[in-house]
Amino acid sequence: MTRRQAAATLALAALPCAGCGAVPTLNDAGPARGEKSATPTTTAGVSAASPPASSALITPAAPSRSAAPLPLAGKVVGIDPGHNGGNFDDPGFINRLIWNGREQETCDTCGTQTASGYTEAQFNFNVARHLHDDLVSRGATVVVTRRSNDGVGPCVNARAQIINAAHADVAIDIHADGGPTWGRGFTVLEPVADGPNDEVISASVQFGANVRAALLEHTVMPLSDYYGSDGVVFRNDLAGLNLTTVPKVLIECGNMPNPTDAALLSSPGFQSDVARAFAEAITIFLATR
Ligand SMILES: [Zn+2]
Repeated sequence: MTRRQAAATLALAALPCAGCGAVPTLNDAGPARGEKSATPTTTAGVSAASPPASSALITPAAPSRSAAPLPLAGKVVGIDPGHNGGNFDDPGFINRLIWNGREQETCDTCGTQTASGYTEAQFNFNVARHLHDDLVSRGATVVVTRRSNDGVGPCVNARAQIINAAHADVAIDIHADGGPTWGRGFTVLEPVADGPNDEVISASVQFGANVRAALLEHTVMPLSDYYGSDGVVFRNDLAGLNLTTVPKVLIECGNMPNPTDAALLSSPGFQSDVARAFAEAITIFLATR
């Protein structure tokens, strides 16, 4: 086994659903992913000009009609809805190796799903859509890494680069886990210093605390009882966290194979609650910066 093959094996072992179509396994830690064809220009949201017709996600900050400034006026927020609904159709692209800042990992995975087949990619995208609208209403400019749920990619490293290039003030990677069926709850994944992200570690930890508190306040999802410690885990093997130059955390919003969590994750009401929690956390975090 060559070094490259060994790295690939490690990466595949660490990610669920690798190869697409595989049965989801413990810890869907797959980081940010998006549209295969995405280029830095598709990060849209930064630009007020020509928003993509197919996108409900990309919108410039709305002007305020009130005298009081909107709480997120002048702020740029990155949203990365993990995976993509079309990843199942292009394993050759999704399984190719990319550099995640420490080692090679696959471009993306397909993500996990509930027992009834509701996909994580759809959940992530729905939450992102709600969050986008909420943030825009608060005055933010929003950058997203994918604009639909029927595309492929982009790769996890490209997603990080999209948000970095936009110089986002803060960013969030939205996921749901593929843990054991008996396990419940959400987990905040936080970066470990590795060079590129050195300057944003402490800010990311603070943001993670804001997100953790907001999820407990605004949703009924408990802290994870099977993953991390008190709802938090540090990860040094994910491109979205290794390569970030802006404060960022990755959230596993619940455990899709668990029946109780699955019912919540599939629910439009819960998806809206999660988005509101994220918007509140982002507003609180940016109020002091
Ligand atoms: Zn995921």
